[in-house]
Amino acid sequence: MDFSSKLLENAVYEMSQLPGIGKRTALRLVLHLLKQPDQRTEGLATSLLDLKEKIQFCSNCHNISDTVLCEICANTKRDSSLVCVVEDIRDVMAIENTGQFRGTYHVLGGKISPMEGVGPQDLTINSLVTKVKKGEIKELIFALSSTMEGDTTNFYIYKQISGLGVSTSTIARGIAVGDELEYADEVTLGRSILNRVPFEGSLKSN
Ligand SMILES: [Zn+2]
Repeated sequence: MDFSSKLLENAVYEMSQLPGIGKRTALRLVLHLLKQPDQRTEGLATSLLDLKEKIQFCSNCHNISDTVLCEICANTKRDSSLVCVVEDIRDVMAIENTGQFRGTYHVLGGKISPMEGVGPQDLTINSLVTKVKKGEIKELIFALSSTMEGDTTNFYIYKQISGLGVSTSTIARGIAVGDELEYADEVTLGRSILNRVPFEGSLKSN
Protein backbone atom coordinates (compact mmCIF):
# COMPACT_ATOMS: atom_id res chain seq x y z
CA MET A 1 0.00 0.00 0.00
CA ASP A 2 1.26 3.43 -0.97
CA PHE A 3 0.34 6.12 1.50
CA SER A 4 0.36 9.84 0.83
CA SER A 5 0.80 10.40 4.56
CA LYS A 6 3.26 8.91 7.00
CA LEU A 7 0.81 9.59 9.86
CA LEU A 8 -1.87 7.60 8.08
CA GLU A 9 0.56 4.81 7.29
CA ASN A 10 1.62 4.56 10.96
CA ALA A 11 -1.97 4.42 12.19
CA VAL A 12 -2.87 1.75 9.64
CA TYR A 13 0.21 -0.25 10.58
CA GLU A 14 -0.66 -0.18 14.30
CA MET A 15 -4.29 -1.11 13.63
CA SER A 16 -3.26 -4.00 11.36
CA GLN A 17 -1.29 -5.55 14.24
CA LEU A 18 -4.61 -6.52 15.89
CA PRO A 19 -5.73 -10.13 15.40
CA GLY A 20 -7.98 -10.62 12.39
CA ILE A 21 -7.36 -7.13 11.01
CA GLY A 22 -5.69 -7.00 7.61
CA LYS A 23 -4.25 -3.88 5.97
CA ARG A 24 -7.47 -3.06 4.08
CA THR A 25 -9.68 -3.34 7.16
CA ALA A 26 -7.11 -1.33 9.11
CA LEU A 27 -7.28 1.44 6.51
CA ARG A 28 -11.09 1.45 6.60
CA LEU A 29 -11.12 1.69 10.42
CA VAL A 30 -8.52 4.43 10.51
CA LEU A 31 -10.39 6.50 7.89
CA HIS A 32 -13.56 5.96 9.92
CA LEU A 33 -11.86 7.21 13.08
CA LEU A 34 -10.53 10.21 11.18
CA LYS A 35 -14.09 11.24 10.32
CA GLN A 36 -15.30 10.95 13.91
CA PRO A 37 -15.53 13.94 16.27
CA ASP A 38 -12.29 14.47 18.24
CA GLN A 39 -13.79 13.31 21.54
CA ARG A 40 -14.85 9.95 20.09
CA THR A 41 -11.32 9.11 18.95
CA GLU A 42 -9.87 10.49 22.17
CA GLY A 43 -12.30 8.37 24.19
CA LEU A 44 -11.09 5.26 22.38
CA ALA A 45 -7.41 6.11 22.79
CA THR A 46 -7.81 7.03 26.48
CA SER A 47 -9.80 3.92 27.33
CA LEU A 48 -7.08 1.73 25.79
CA LEU A 49 -4.28 3.56 27.61
CA ASP A 50 -6.22 3.39 30.89
CA LEU A 51 -6.81 -0.31 30.37
CA LYS A 52 -3.11 -0.98 29.90
CA GLU A 53 -1.99 1.30 32.73
CA LYS A 54 -4.55 0.65 35.43
CA ILE A 55 -5.77 -2.90 34.95
CA GLN A 56 -4.84 -5.35 37.66
CA PHE A 57 -4.97 -9.08 38.03
CA CYS A 58 -6.73 -10.42 41.12
CA SER A 59 -4.11 -11.50 43.65
CA ASN A 60 -6.09 -14.65 44.41
CA CYS A 61 -7.65 -15.93 41.18
CA HIS A 62 -5.64 -13.93 38.58
CA ASN A 63 -8.76 -12.74 36.81
CA ILE A 64 -8.64 -9.27 35.24
CA SER A 65 -9.84 -6.85 37.88
CA ASP A 66 -9.94 -3.16 38.81
CA THR A 67 -9.01 -3.98 42.39
CA VAL A 68 -6.38 -6.09 44.18
CA LEU A 69 -9.02 -8.70 45.00
CA CYS A 70 -11.67 -9.19 42.30
CA GLU A 71 -15.38 -8.86 43.10
CA ILE A 72 -15.91 -12.62 43.01
CA CYS A 73 -13.04 -13.43 45.41
CA ALA A 74 -14.06 -10.54 47.68
CA ASN A 75 -17.64 -11.80 47.90
CA THR A 76 -17.98 -13.70 51.21
CA LYS A 77 -21.09 -15.48 49.92
CA ARG A 78 -19.00 -17.33 47.35
CA ASP A 79 -17.51 -20.69 48.34
CA SER A 80 -13.74 -20.24 48.14
CA SER A 81 -13.13 -23.95 48.75
CA LEU A 82 -14.81 -24.81 45.44
CA VAL A 83 -12.58 -23.60 42.62
CA CYS A 84 -13.30 -23.72 38.91
CA VAL A 85 -10.12 -23.79 36.80
CA VAL A 86 -10.49 -21.81 33.57
CA GLU A 87 -8.31 -20.45 30.81
CA ASP A 88 -9.22 -16.76 30.81
CA ILE A 89 -11.75 -14.09 31.69
CA ARG A 90 -14.06 -15.09 28.83
CA ASP A 91 -14.67 -18.43 30.54
CA VAL A 92 -15.36 -16.69 33.87
CA MET A 93 -17.88 -14.45 32.11
CA ALA A 94 -19.55 -17.41 30.38
CA ILE A 95 -19.88 -19.38 33.64
CA GLU A 96 -21.03 -16.32 35.62
CA ASN A 97 -23.75 -15.78 33.01
CA THR A 98 -25.22 -19.18 33.83
CA GLY A 99 -25.92 -18.01 37.39
CA GLN A 100 -25.35 -21.64 38.49
CA PHE A 101 -21.95 -21.45 40.11
CA ARG A 102 -21.41 -20.20 43.67
CA GLY A 103 -17.75 -21.14 43.99
CA THR A 104 -14.72 -19.14 42.87
CA TYR A 105 -12.26 -19.36 39.97
CA HIS A 106 -8.62 -19.84 39.18
CA VAL A 107 -7.65 -18.20 35.89
CA LEU A 108 -4.66 -19.93 34.28
CA GLY A 109 -4.00 -17.30 31.63
CA GLY A 110 -3.85 -19.87 28.82
CA LYS A 111 -3.31 -23.57 28.18
CA ILE A 112 -0.15 -25.62 27.96
CA SER A 113 0.74 -25.65 24.27
CA PRO A 114 4.18 -26.85 23.19
CA MET A 115 3.31 -25.80 19.62
CA GLU A 116 2.87 -22.19 20.71
CA GLY A 117 5.72 -22.33 23.20
CA VAL A 118 3.44 -22.09 26.25
CA GLY A 119 4.73 -24.18 29.16
CA PRO A 120 3.37 -24.67 32.69
CA GLN A 121 5.67 -21.90 33.97
CA ASP A 122 3.91 -19.39 31.70
CA LEU A 123 0.60 -20.04 33.44
CA THR A 124 -0.60 -19.51 37.02
CA ILE A 125 -0.36 -23.23 37.85
CA ASN A 126 2.19 -22.77 40.67
CA SER A 127 -0.09 -20.38 42.49
CA LEU A 128 -2.95 -22.90 42.19
CA VAL A 129 -0.79 -25.72 43.55
CA THR A 130 0.27 -23.46 46.44
CA LYS A 131 -3.38 -22.80 47.32
CA VAL A 132 -4.12 -26.53 47.25
CA LYS A 133 -1.10 -27.24 49.49
CA LYS A 134 -2.35 -24.68 52.00
CA GLY A 135 -5.53 -26.75 52.27
CA GLU A 136 -7.70 -23.85 51.11
CA ILE A 137 -9.42 -25.84 48.39
CA LYS A 138 -11.75 -28.85 48.74
CA GLU A 139 -12.67 -29.35 45.10
CA LEU A 140 -11.18 -28.30 41.78
CA ILE A 141 -13.45 -28.27 38.76
CA PHE A 142 -11.58 -28.41 35.46
CA ALA A 143 -13.45 -26.31 32.93
CA LEU A 144 -10.94 -25.93 30.12
CA SER A 145 -12.11 -26.55 26.58
CA SER A 146 -11.77 -30.19 25.60
CA THR A 147 -9.03 -29.66 23.06
CA MET A 148 -5.69 -31.46 23.20
CA GLU A 149 -4.16 -28.41 24.94
CA GLY A 150 -7.03 -28.31 27.44
CA ASP A 151 -6.68 -32.02 28.22
CA THR A 152 -2.90 -31.74 28.57
CA THR A 153 -3.28 -28.83 30.97
CA ASN A 154 -5.92 -30.60 33.08
CA PHE A 155 -3.76 -33.68 33.32
CA TYR A 156 -0.64 -31.71 34.23
CA ILE A 157 -2.44 -29.94 37.06
CA TYR A 158 -4.06 -33.19 38.18
CA LYS A 159 -0.60 -34.78 38.48
CA GLN A 160 0.71 -31.81 40.46
CA ILE A 161 -2.06 -31.93 43.03
CA SER A 162 -2.87 -35.61 43.30
CA GLY A 163 -2.25 -36.91 46.80
CA LEU A 164 -2.84 -33.46 48.31
CA GLY A 165 -6.34 -34.30 49.48
CA VAL A 166 -8.31 -32.21 47.01
CA SER A 167 -11.08 -33.77 44.95
CA THR A 168 -11.11 -33.09 41.23
CA SER A 169 -13.96 -33.02 38.78
CA THR A 170 -14.52 -31.95 35.22
CA ILE A 171 -17.55 -30.23 33.78
CA ALA A 172 -19.96 -32.70 32.23
CA ARG A 173 -19.91 -32.22 28.50
CA GLY A 174 -23.11 -31.61 26.71
CA ILE A 175 -20.57 -29.54 24.89
CA ALA A 176 -19.00 -31.07 21.81
CA VAL A 177 -15.29 -31.80 21.85
CA GLY A 178 -13.30 -28.77 20.78
CA ASP A 179 -16.09 -26.30 21.58
CA GLU A 180 -14.88 -23.35 23.50
CA LEU A 181 -16.71 -22.56 26.75
CA GLU A 182 -17.30 -19.05 25.52
CA TYR A 183 -19.63 -20.33 22.82
CA ALA A 184 -21.51 -22.91 24.87
CA ASP A 185 -25.07 -21.85 25.56
CA GLU A 186 -25.85 -20.85 29.13
CA VAL A 187 -28.30 -23.65 29.91
CA THR A 188 -25.93 -26.36 28.67
CA LEU A 189 -22.97 -24.82 30.45
CA GLY A 190 -24.93 -24.33 33.70
CA ARG A 191 -26.09 -27.93 33.62
CA SER A 192 -22.60 -29.21 32.84
CA ILE A 193 -21.27 -27.52 35.99
CA LEU A 194 -24.00 -28.94 38.20
CA ASN A 195 -23.58 -32.42 36.66
CA ARG A 196 -19.82 -32.43 36.81
CA VAL A 197 -18.10 -35.81 36.96
CA PRO A 198 -15.02 -36.99 38.87
CA PHE A 199 -11.89 -36.16 36.86
CA GLU A 200 -10.38 -39.61 37.20
CA GLY A 201 -13.54 -41.20 35.79
CA SER A 202 -13.36 -38.90 32.81
CA LEU A 203 -9.81 -40.12 32.11
CA LYS A 204 -10.82 -43.79 32.07
CA SER A 205 -13.69 -43.19 29.66
CA ASN A 206 -11.31 -41.63 27.13
ZN1 LIG B 1 -10.31 -13.10 42.15
